[in-house]
Amino acid sequence: MKLSRILSNRDGVSRKRANALIAAGRVTVNGTPCRVPARDVDRFSTVRVDEAIIQPGDTAHHLMLHKPAGYLSATVDDVHTTVLDLIAPSLRQELHIAGRLDRASTGLLILTNDGTWSRQLTEPKIKLPKVYRVETADPISQETAQCFAEGIWFEFEQLRTSPATLELLGPQAARVTIYEGRYHQVKRMFHAVGNRITSLHREQMGAIELDAALAPGDYRPLTAPEIDSVR
Ligand code: URA
Repeated sequence: MKLSRILSNRDGVSRKRANALIAAGRVTVNGTPCRVPARDVDRFSTVRVDEAIIQPGDTAHHLMLHKPAGYLSATVDDVHTTVLDLIAPSLRQELHIAGRLDRASTGLLILTNDGTWSRQLTEPKIKLPKVYRVETADPISQETAQCFAEGIWFEFEQLRTSPATLELLGPQAARVTIYEGRYHQVKRMFHAVGNRITSLHREQMGAIELDAALAPGDYRPLTAPEIDSVR
């Protein structure tokens, strides 16, 4: 929300008065004076006029979870346990998932209450790399890497996937990097080349790598550099 709007939402403060306070340097955002009425200020920032708190600033949560198999990437479900069941109740209420994993898939899952931040992870246009280790039912053919590099045609969406890379780790194992996060994307890419995934584990999203110290089901807050790597 614009800074002037945050101030003028207060009873008895006109937009003109808000702009005057801002121009006078009496308004701070997270402790720093801001003289720009149109500055966009998120709900996690603290806004003060002199010493008076106008907006206290909500606490932002950014968590890394090592998702175990069998948990649904959803916030509520009538039938299955969800990844939220793994999170402390006091943190659960507002969290959403930044890039789902299928129920059988494992690995890095990020949960947050900061929607602006999480869009940087999930928006296909941003082309953030997502790295998966996969095992397949059949040997991975020579042509698979080439097909993934050229992009796979997805009939339902009527689009070609962005060039993806495949590093062979064994006859039926590979590391795949994709730059979108479409529905069942990696499974559908292997299906398109006549193979089938038997296990899928996400290792990395952008610069954020799954912490090897986290056992399946464990989570920790992201560090400041991890959070900033996505902005
Ligand atoms: N692609 C898939 O097919 N499944 C996932 O869980 C993630 C990416």
